[in-house]
Amino acid sequence: MGVYAMTGGATGIGASLKEKLRQRGDTVIVVDIKDADIIADLSTADGRVAAQEGVAALAADGLDGFVACAGLPPVARPSLVDKVNYFGAVASIEGVRELVAKKRGAIVAVSSNSAPLPGLNQEHIDTLLSGDEDKACTLVDTLSGHEAYAGSKNSLAKWVRRNAPTYMADGVRLNAIAPGMTRTPMTDQIFEDEELGQAIQDFSQTIPYGGLATPDMIADGILFLLDDAARFVSGVVLFVDGGQDALLRPDQF
Ligand code: NAD
Repeated sequence: MGVYAMTGGATGIGASLKEKLRQRGDTVIVVDIKDADIIADLSTADGRVAAQEGVAALAADGLDGFVACAGLPPVARPSLVDKVNYFGAVASIEGVRELVAKKRGAIVAVSSNSAPLPGLNQEHIDTLLSGDEDKACTLVDTLSGHEAYAGSKNSLAKWVRRNAPTYMADGVRLNAIAPGMTRTPMTDQIFEDEELGQAIQDFSQTIPYGGLATPDMIADGILFLLDDAARFVSGVVLFVDGGQDALLRPDQF
Protein backbone atom coordinates (compact mmCIF):
# COMPACT_ATOMS: atom_id res chain seq x y z
CA MET A 1 0.00 0.00 0.00
CA GLY A 2 1.32 3.41 -0.88
CA VAL A 3 1.50 6.82 0.72
CA TYR A 4 0.15 9.68 -1.37
CA ALA A 5 -0.40 13.39 -0.86
CA MET A 6 -2.58 15.70 -2.84
CA THR A 7 -3.95 19.22 -2.91
CA GLY A 8 -7.61 19.96 -3.62
CA GLY A 9 -9.04 16.75 -2.20
CA ALA A 10 -12.09 18.30 -0.56
CA THR A 11 -14.47 18.26 -3.54
CA GLY A 12 -14.82 17.30 -7.19
CA ILE A 13 -12.07 15.46 -9.05
CA GLY A 14 -9.71 15.50 -6.05
CA ALA A 15 -12.36 14.03 -3.72
CA SER A 16 -12.98 11.21 -6.19
CA LEU A 17 -9.26 10.46 -6.44
CA LYS A 18 -8.91 10.52 -2.64
CA GLU A 19 -11.76 7.99 -2.29
CA LYS A 20 -10.32 5.68 -4.95
CA LEU A 21 -6.88 5.69 -3.32
CA ARG A 22 -8.33 5.10 0.15
CA GLN A 23 -10.62 2.32 -1.13
CA ARG A 24 -7.65 0.38 -2.45
CA GLY A 25 -5.87 0.78 0.90
CA ASP A 26 -3.46 3.62 0.26
CA THR A 27 -2.77 6.38 2.77
CA VAL A 28 -3.75 9.81 1.43
CA ILE A 29 -2.68 13.13 2.94
CA VAL A 30 -4.98 15.91 1.76
CA VAL A 31 -4.03 19.58 1.61
CA ASP A 32 -6.95 21.92 1.01
CA ILE A 33 -8.47 25.17 2.15
CA LYS A 34 -11.25 23.08 3.82
CA ASP A 35 -12.02 19.47 4.86
CA ALA A 36 -8.39 18.33 4.80
CA ASP A 37 -5.58 16.81 6.87
CA ILE A 38 -3.62 20.01 6.32
CA ILE A 39 -5.63 23.20 6.00
CA ALA A 40 -3.63 25.56 3.82
CA ASP A 41 -4.48 28.39 1.46
CA LEU A 42 -2.24 27.81 -1.55
CA SER A 43 -2.76 31.36 -2.78
CA THR A 44 -0.48 32.58 0.02
CA ALA A 45 3.20 32.13 0.86
CA ASP A 46 2.31 31.02 4.40
CA GLY A 47 -0.18 28.47 3.09
CA ARG A 48 2.40 27.00 0.72
CA VAL A 49 4.90 26.62 3.58
CA ALA A 50 2.20 25.05 5.79
CA ALA A 51 1.43 22.57 3.00
CA GLN A 52 5.08 21.63 2.53
CA GLU A 53 5.81 21.30 6.25
CA GLY A 54 2.54 19.49 6.94
CA VAL A 55 3.13 16.87 4.26
CA ALA A 56 6.77 16.40 5.32
CA ALA A 57 5.67 15.80 8.92
CA LEU A 58 3.12 13.15 7.88
CA ALA A 59 5.24 11.41 5.23
CA ALA A 60 8.78 11.44 6.60
CA ASP A 61 9.65 8.18 4.78
CA GLY A 62 8.65 9.63 1.43
CA LEU A 63 5.72 9.66 -0.96
CA ASP A 64 4.73 7.19 -3.66
CA GLY A 65 2.88 9.95 -5.40
CA PHE A 66 1.66 13.53 -5.28
CA VAL A 67 -1.18 15.24 -7.15
CA ALA A 68 -1.51 19.02 -7.49
CA CYS A 69 -5.27 19.19 -8.01
CA ALA A 70 -6.39 22.38 -6.21
CA GLY A 71 -7.67 24.99 -8.60
CA LEU A 72 -10.01 27.93 -9.06
CA PRO A 73 -12.37 28.52 -12.01
CA PRO A 74 -12.29 31.31 -14.62
CA VAL A 75 -15.01 33.13 -12.66
CA ALA A 76 -12.64 33.74 -9.70
CA ARG A 77 -10.52 36.87 -9.47
CA PRO A 78 -7.79 36.46 -12.14
CA SER A 79 -4.86 37.12 -9.79
CA LEU A 80 -6.25 34.54 -7.36
CA VAL A 81 -6.49 32.08 -10.26
CA ASP A 82 -2.79 32.64 -11.03
CA LYS A 83 -1.85 32.27 -7.37
CA VAL A 84 -3.67 28.97 -6.86
CA ASN A 85 -3.63 27.32 -10.30
CA TYR A 86 -0.04 28.13 -11.22
CA PHE A 87 2.09 29.41 -8.33
CA GLY A 88 0.36 27.26 -5.67
CA ALA A 89 0.59 24.18 -7.88
CA VAL A 90 4.27 24.70 -8.74
CA ALA A 91 5.19 25.47 -5.11
CA SER A 92 3.38 22.39 -3.84
CA ILE A 93 5.14 20.18 -6.40
CA GLU A 94 8.57 21.64 -5.65
CA GLY A 95 7.83 21.27 -1.94
CA VAL A 96 7.41 17.49 -2.21
CA ARG A 97 10.07 16.75 -4.84
CA GLU A 98 12.55 15.20 -2.42
CA LEU A 99 9.86 13.19 -0.61
CA VAL A 100 8.70 11.69 -3.92
CA ALA A 101 12.30 11.07 -5.01
CA LYS A 102 12.84 9.00 -1.84
CA LYS A 103 10.38 6.42 -3.18
CA ARG A 104 10.98 6.97 -6.92
CA GLY A 105 7.34 7.98 -7.15
CA ALA A 106 5.19 10.01 -9.51
CA ILE A 107 3.75 13.52 -9.57
CA VAL A 108 0.67 14.62 -11.50
CA ALA A 109 -0.26 18.27 -12.10
CA VAL A 110 -3.90 18.90 -12.99
CA SER A 111 -3.95 21.19 -16.02
CA SER A 112 -6.97 21.47 -18.36
CA ASN A 113 -7.94 20.84 -21.96
CA SER A 114 -8.54 24.59 -22.11
CA ALA A 115 -4.75 25.10 -21.88
CA PRO A 116 -4.10 25.03 -25.66
CA LEU A 117 -7.21 27.06 -26.59
CA PRO A 118 -6.68 30.19 -28.71
CA GLY A 119 -6.96 33.73 -27.36
CA LEU A 120 -4.37 33.54 -24.59
CA ASN A 121 -2.00 36.36 -23.64
CA GLN A 122 1.60 35.29 -24.35
CA GLU A 123 3.10 37.90 -22.01
CA HIS A 124 0.99 36.46 -19.19
CA ILE A 125 2.23 32.94 -19.90
CA ASP A 126 5.85 34.09 -20.17
CA THR A 127 5.55 35.99 -16.90
CA LEU A 128 4.07 33.01 -15.08
CA LEU A 129 6.86 30.77 -16.35
CA SER A 130 9.46 33.38 -15.30
CA GLY A 131 8.22 32.92 -11.72
CA ASP A 132 7.49 36.64 -11.16
CA GLU A 133 4.27 36.31 -9.14
CA ASP A 134 3.71 40.03 -8.48
CA LYS A 135 4.14 40.95 -12.14
CA ALA A 136 1.93 38.09 -13.37
CA CYS A 137 -0.82 38.96 -10.89
CA THR A 138 -0.81 42.65 -11.84
CA LEU A 139 -0.98 41.78 -15.53
CA VAL A 140 -3.64 39.09 -15.22
CA ASP A 141 -6.05 41.39 -13.40
CA THR A 142 -6.33 43.31 -16.71
CA LEU A 143 -7.27 40.13 -18.61
CA SER A 144 -10.44 38.04 -18.98
CA GLY A 145 -11.36 35.01 -16.88
CA HIS A 146 -10.62 32.73 -19.84
CA GLU A 147 -7.16 34.26 -20.37
CA ALA A 148 -6.43 33.90 -16.66
CA TYR A 149 -7.68 30.33 -16.24
CA ALA A 150 -6.49 28.80 -19.50
CA GLY A 151 -3.24 30.82 -19.26
CA SER A 152 -2.55 29.40 -15.78
CA LYS A 153 -3.22 25.85 -17.02
CA ASN A 154 -1.17 26.37 -20.21
CA SER A 155 1.79 27.57 -18.13
CA LEU A 156 1.42 24.69 -15.67
CA ALA A 157 1.53 22.15 -18.51
CA LYS A 158 4.61 23.87 -19.98
CA TRP A 159 6.25 23.96 -16.54
CA VAL A 160 5.67 20.21 -16.25
CA ARG A 161 7.22 19.51 -19.66
CA ARG A 162 10.19 21.79 -19.00
CA ASN A 163 10.90 20.17 -15.64
CA ALA A 164 10.03 16.52 -16.33
CA PRO A 165 13.54 15.56 -17.53
CA THR A 166 15.32 16.76 -14.38
CA TYR A 167 12.66 15.22 -12.15
CA MET A 168 13.06 11.95 -14.06
CA ALA A 169 16.81 12.09 -13.50
CA ASP A 170 15.96 12.04 -9.76
CA GLY A 171 13.69 9.04 -10.34
CA VAL A 172 10.47 11.07 -10.25
CA ARG A 173 7.94 10.87 -13.08
CA LEU A 174 6.33 14.27 -13.57
CA ASN A 175 3.25 14.42 -15.80
CA ALA A 176 0.15 16.53 -16.32
CA ILE A 177 -3.45 15.58 -16.92
CA ALA A 178 -5.68 17.81 -19.02
CA PRO A 179 -9.29 17.08 -18.06
CA GLY A 180 -12.15 18.17 -20.24
CA MET A 181 -15.35 19.52 -18.77
CA THR A 182 -16.27 17.53 -15.68
CA ARG A 183 -19.37 17.89 -13.54
CA THR A 184 -18.04 19.27 -10.21
CA PRO A 185 -18.75 22.23 -7.91
CA MET A 186 -16.37 24.18 -10.17
CA THR A 187 -18.42 23.65 -13.34
CA ASP A 188 -21.67 24.28 -11.43
CA GLN A 189 -20.22 27.66 -10.46
CA ILE A 190 -19.23 28.44 -14.07
CA PHE A 191 -22.61 27.36 -15.50
CA GLU A 192 -24.31 29.78 -13.13
CA ASP A 193 -22.11 32.70 -14.19
CA GLU A 194 -23.95 35.41 -16.13
CA GLU A 195 -21.04 36.16 -18.45
CA LEU A 196 -19.51 32.74 -19.06
CA GLY A 197 -22.35 30.33 -18.25
CA GLN A 198 -24.06 30.11 -21.64
CA ALA A 199 -20.81 30.04 -23.63
CA ILE A 200 -19.49 27.16 -21.52
CA GLN A 201 -22.81 25.28 -21.78
CA ASP A 202 -22.63 25.65 -25.58
CA PHE A 203 -18.96 24.54 -25.58
CA SER A 204 -19.90 21.45 -23.57
CA GLN A 205 -22.30 20.41 -26.33
CA THR A 206 -19.31 19.84 -28.66
CA ILE A 207 -17.73 17.04 -26.57
CA PRO A 208 -17.64 14.01 -28.90
CA TYR A 209 -18.32 11.66 -25.95
CA GLY A 210 -21.76 13.26 -25.72
CA GLY A 211 -21.58 14.99 -22.37
CA LEU A 212 -19.46 16.05 -19.42
CA ALA A 213 -17.16 13.69 -17.55
CA THR A 214 -17.91 12.53 -14.05
CA PRO A 215 -15.07 13.14 -11.56
CA ASP A 216 -14.17 9.44 -11.39
CA MET A 217 -13.32 9.43 -15.12
CA ILE A 218 -10.61 12.01 -14.49
CA ALA A 219 -9.48 10.34 -11.26
CA ASP A 220 -8.91 7.12 -13.22
CA GLY A 221 -6.60 9.00 -15.62
CA ILE A 222 -4.64 10.38 -12.66
CA LEU A 223 -4.39 6.91 -11.12
CA PHE A 224 -2.92 5.61 -14.37
CA LEU A 225 -0.23 8.31 -14.32
CA LEU A 226 0.54 7.58 -10.65
CA ASP A 227 0.74 3.83 -11.06
CA ASP A 228 3.40 1.42 -12.21
CA ALA A 229 1.46 0.90 -15.46
CA ALA A 230 2.87 4.32 -16.44
CA ARG A 231 6.44 3.60 -15.29
CA PHE A 232 7.97 4.82 -18.59
CA VAL A 233 5.63 7.82 -18.91
CA SER A 234 7.26 11.16 -18.10
CA GLY A 235 6.52 14.68 -19.32
CA VAL A 236 3.19 13.94 -20.98
CA VAL A 237 0.08 16.07 -20.93
CA LEU A 238 -2.66 13.44 -20.96
CA PHE A 239 -5.95 14.73 -22.38
CA VAL A 240 -8.91 13.02 -20.70
CA ASP A 241 -11.68 14.95 -22.37
CA GLY A 242 -14.02 12.71 -24.35
CA GLY A 243 -12.25 13.59 -27.61
CA GLN A 244 -12.73 17.37 -27.48
CA ASP A 245 -9.07 18.31 -27.92
CA ALA A 246 -8.77 15.96 -30.91
CA LEU A 247 -11.87 17.58 -32.38
CA LEU A 248 -10.49 21.10 -31.94
CA ARG A 249 -6.82 20.42 -32.80
CA PRO A 250 -6.70 17.26 -34.91
CA ASP A 251 -3.16 17.80 -36.18
CA GLN A 252 -1.56 18.68 -32.83
CA PHE A 253 -0.11 16.09 -30.49
P1 NAD B 1 -13.56 21.77 -7.27
O1 NAD B 1 -13.92 23.19 -7.07
O2 NAD B 1 -14.55 20.72 -6.88
O3 NAD B 1 -12.18 21.41 -6.57
C1 NAD B 1 -11.15 22.34 -6.37
C2 NAD B 1 -10.50 22.04 -5.04
O4 NAD B 1 -9.44 23.00 -4.84
C3 NAD B 1 -11.45 22.17 -3.85
O5 NAD B 1 -11.27 21.09 -2.96
C4 NAD B 1 -11.06 23.49 -3.24
O6 NAD B 1 -11.36 23.60 -1.86
C5 NAD B 1 -9.56 23.51 -3.52
N1 NAD B 1 -9.00 24.88 -3.44
C6 NAD B 1 -9.50 25.99 -4.03
N2 NAD B 1 -8.76 27.06 -3.68
C7 NAD B 1 -7.80 26.62 -2.85
C8 NAD B 1 -6.73 27.27 -2.16
N3 NAD B 1 -6.56 28.61 -2.20
N4 NAD B 1 -5.91 26.51 -1.39
C9 NAD B 1 -6.10 25.17 -1.28
N5 NAD B 1 -7.09 24.51 -1.93
C10 NAD B 1 -7.94 25.23 -2.70
O7 NAD B 1 -13.22 21.66 -8.82
P2 NAD B 1 -12.74 20.45 -9.74
O8 NAD B 1 -13.48 20.62 -11.00
O9 NAD B 1 -12.74 19.16 -9.04
O10 NAD B 1 -11.23 20.91 -10.03
C11 NAD B 1 -10.10 20.14 -9.70
C12 NAD B 1 -8.98 20.54 -10.65
O11 NAD B 1 -9.34 20.14 -11.97
C13 NAD B 1 -8.73 22.04 -10.72
O12 NAD B 1 -7.34 22.29 -10.80
C14 NAD B 1 -9.43 22.43 -12.00
O13 NAD B 1 -8.89 23.62 -12.56
C15 NAD B 1 -9.16 21.22 -12.86
N6 NAD B 1 -10.08 21.07 -13.99
C16 NAD B 1 -11.41 20.95 -13.79
C17 NAD B 1 -12.25 20.81 -14.90
C18 NAD B 1 -13.73 20.70 -14.76
O14 NAD B 1 -14.44 20.75 -15.78
N7 NAD B 1 -14.27 20.52 -13.57
C19 NAD B 1 -11.70 20.78 -16.19
C20 NAD B 1 -10.33 20.90 -16.35
C21 NAD B 1 -9.51 21.04 -15.24
